[in-house]
Order: sequence, then structure tokens, then C-alpha cells
Amino acid sequence: MLHMSSISNVACAEDNTGMMSPPQDSNPKLPHGYCDLNLPYEPVSTIQARVIRAVALGYQTLAISVSVHQDELTYKNRKHKAAKKAKLDPDESEQMTDFPEPPRIIVKPEDHAGYPAPVILTRLNLTVNDNNFQPIWNSSETGKKYDLVAICPTSAPTLTNILKSAFRADIVAFDPENVRDVRWSRKLYNECVSQLMFFEINYAPCIRDTSTRRTTISQSHNYHLYGKSKAIFMSSGATNVLEMRGPHDVANLGFLFGLNEHQGKLAVKGIGHQVVKTALGRKMGPFRALIQKVDQLPEEEQWKVPEDAQDESEEEEGIRMKVTNLECDLSEVIISSPIGNYKILACPQGLHQVGQTDDVDNNNFLALGQAIVQFVEGSKTDNPHLLTAFAWMTEYFSNNRDISDKVQVCPQVIGESEESRSFRQKVWMSLKLKVGLGETVSYAQLAALAGSAGASRAVGSAMANNPIGLIIPCHRVVKSDGSYGNYAKSTKNDVKTWLLTHEQSHADKL
Ligand SMILES: [Zn+2]
Repeated sequence: MLHMSSISNVACAEDNTGMMSPPQDSNPKLPHGYCDLNLPYEPVSTIQARVIRAVALGYQTLAISVSVHQDELTYKNRKHKAAKKAKLDPDESEQMTDFPEPPRIIVKPEDHAGYPAPVILTRLNLTVNDNNFQPIWNSSETGKKYDLVAICPTSAPTLTNILKSAFRADIVAFDPENVRDVRWSRKLYNECVSQLMFFEINYAPCIRDTSTRRTTISQSHNYHLYGKSKAIFMSSGATNVLEMRGPHDVANLGFLFGLNEHQGKLAVKGIGHQVVKTALGRKMGPFRALIQKVDQLPEEEQWKVPEDAQDESEEEEGIRMKVTNLECDLSEVIISSPIGNYKILACPQGLHQVGQTDDVDNNNFLALGQAIVQFVEGSKTDNPHLLTAFAWMTEYFSNNRDISDKVQVCPQVIGESEESRSFRQKVWMSLKLKVGLGETVSYAQLAALAGSAGASRAVGSAMANNPIGLIIPCHRVVKSDGSYGNYAKSTKNDVKTWLLTHEQSHADKL
């Protein structure tokens, strides 16, 4: 009944604490099979059961993680000084002066009987506010015993500063309870990727708690938006066996986090292997580069190749269409207008998409158009946001009035709050709130309105990707010389002219 070959892999000896010791590393622990790289060591009472469950579910590479918040650490010298000052014994303080020893987990052969022996790694999760943890890390022998190092930065500047320092982590983890604001950008994401860090999504906390689910989904939305979800892997983060799911279920769960089918599969296996191998490389010290032709790279390593920074809008548009579907239950209607049909999507929280149907272009929009705003046959809805959009269109086309302040856009699209908005979302919001009927702004002016004077190019890209046409009035954004410029990649320039002329007639009436 026992697999002799597997047993020799584990070769665990029970020590006097009753816990198990991992095999002494004569050879490095190489990953194989499906990976769950985050089994929290706490609660210790269930860790053994969780490891056994993971093996039974089909995982073969596991990491037992220990979490330390930077605030729990004190640099030794500083602590001694502080204690001296306070005339206290330094040991009376509750602060740690070093990282805890990596836990030792035993998997007895009978615990995985019938299954291949797992590779069990240790992982340190560091929640950090700034670079002040680094002196402790640098002087610590214990910290460096862990196989994997994950950081959970509490803010974007924290992450940026870590990237600038000599400290190297393998994983960018996301700790919804401790993150204040990580404002992602393409640059920040690529910086992490170029430093060989991988992004982790934990699914078990999302099963446990709805607000964690929302935060995690919005975080993975950012990963999607700014990094096309490359270098993402999924772990459980499970604190009890009931939260654990098999690798196939987890790969499917990837859809919820913006991963396509292929990325979902990589997230439970291929990327996990990359994480472990990259960590081995980091621990071995000086960088060893491997030169390979791009077209010879296996598919799961393609993300390492920097992509052309240009010509991103097309692909991003594809991504946007996908991310707007995250979590939300969408309803759709088609509404006719004097300039052709509009397709409008909304969830119970607000609008997701307003756009002319694909068949509308420069040449035919007037011919396609109908004089009245009405639901096109077959379109019916009781979604309040679609009904408001209908009212908005009626007012706009028939009475030349703008009631866009009554129209709500889903927070998944426009961001939850001013602080959490990406630059692109700020641009959309500024345009909706600050540029009214009959007015126009230049790209540069809109950049300034959104709080980043000089970012006109990024404004251009925000306009090209505007999901809520008309209501977020990207047709009111014109070139600085006053000429109208392109609309919908120049396929609908005449529509833009029509809209601005229509609005001008309103201005004339005033
Ligand atoms: Zn929504």
C-alpha cells in the first residue's frame, strides 16, 4: 500500500516536540504537481489535517505560511536602547527581535498513503508599512531559512520603496485586512514582474467573508487591468479543511478573479512551480541569467517577455469587456436613438456599458437612426439603472437636457471611492461631473481636471476605453486647437460631430 519512492522523498523523523521535521535539504525542494502555496500555520491545531486534506485533494507542492506584521518586530539595538531608556528588561517587551523559526510539519507515509508524497515548503508572510523591517531582515538568520518570502505591502508607496531597495521577495500577497491603498499602475505591476515577483490570490478568505471577497475581486480586477493577470497564482489561505477546494475547482474559480481558462490552470500549477524555482534561485544568491529565444519559451513563461508598451489600447479594450463582468449580474437592453441603436448593460449597482451597436458607423448612423428613443423590440427591463439610462436618453435626444447626475455607474467600473480610483476612473468621473452639455474640454484640460496636469496621453487612452459612452461624455473631449479629433478610433467621427452640433443647438437656445 505504500509508495516506497514517495516515502524516501519525505523521510520525516518525529522530533521530541511531536511535530515533524522536514527532510534536511541535501537537494533543493523542487515543485511538482498542483500547488497550494499558502496554508497558514495558524491555527496549529488543524495544520496537520489541512496538509493531509490538501494531499488528498491532489496537491503535491504545499507551503506552510507564518505571518508577521512589521509592527510586531523591533530591531535589536533599538530595542535595547529603548529599554535602557525606560529602565526595563528588554525581554519584557512583547516585540519580536527576530522572525519565528519556520514551522516543521511532518507528513507520515500513512498520512498520504495512496497519494504521491508532497513537497512541503515554508513561507514567511511579511505585512510591511515601510522599509524599516529591512535591518531586521538583513541581520536575521532565521528569516532566511524560509523557502518562500511573501510581502503584503499596506500601500503603493510601500511597494514602490521595497522595489527600489535590495530586499527581494518572491510573492506579492494581498492581505485585505491590512491594505490601505495599493494604487496599481501598469508601471508598478511590470516592475514587480521584472523583479521576478508573483502575484497571489487567496480564495478561502473570499469564501469566509463577503467584504473580503469584494476587496479581493477588486484587487484582481486591478491585476487584470494593469498586468493582464500575468504571473498570478492562486492559493487557499485556508484555516480549516472545509474551506479547501481541489485544483480543478480552484482553476475554475479563477473566472471570478478575471483569469481566463488557461490562466486559471496556470494559477494552480505552472506559475506555482515558477514561484518555487525563482525562490530557489533567489536563495542561491547571485543572479544567473539564462538566454533563450522568445519563441522557444514554454507558454507558461511567456509573461517574462516584456511586451511592447505601444499599441496597448486594443488589447485593453478586450480586457475591459471581461472585467466589467466580474461579480455583477448584468442585464442588457437595446435602445434606439436618432443616431442609431445603443446597447446598454447594467447590474443592480449601476451601469456597466453604454455604446452604439457594432453595426453603427460614420456612413450609416443617420440612416440607421430613428427619431424617437424607445426600447428596441424584445428589450425589456426592470433594472432601475437601465430605466434611468432610458430616461437620460429621452431627455438628451428629445429635449436636449442632460440628467446624467441621476445616472449611476457601477463601482466595479468607476471605483468604490475617490481614494480607490485609478487615474483612468478619475478621468471618467471628472468628465461626467465637470463637463456639461454644450461644453468641450481638451485632453490637457481634462488631465488637469482629473488632478494630473500633463497626462493628456493617458486621458486619450482613458477616452478610447470609456465603457459608458454618451453619459460619460467622451465626445466632449476635443483637440487643443478646437478641432474635434477622433471618435471610436475614427470609425464614428461623424457621430461626434453630430453630438456636438446637437448640444450646440441647446447652447444657442440659452
Ligand atoms: Zn456592477
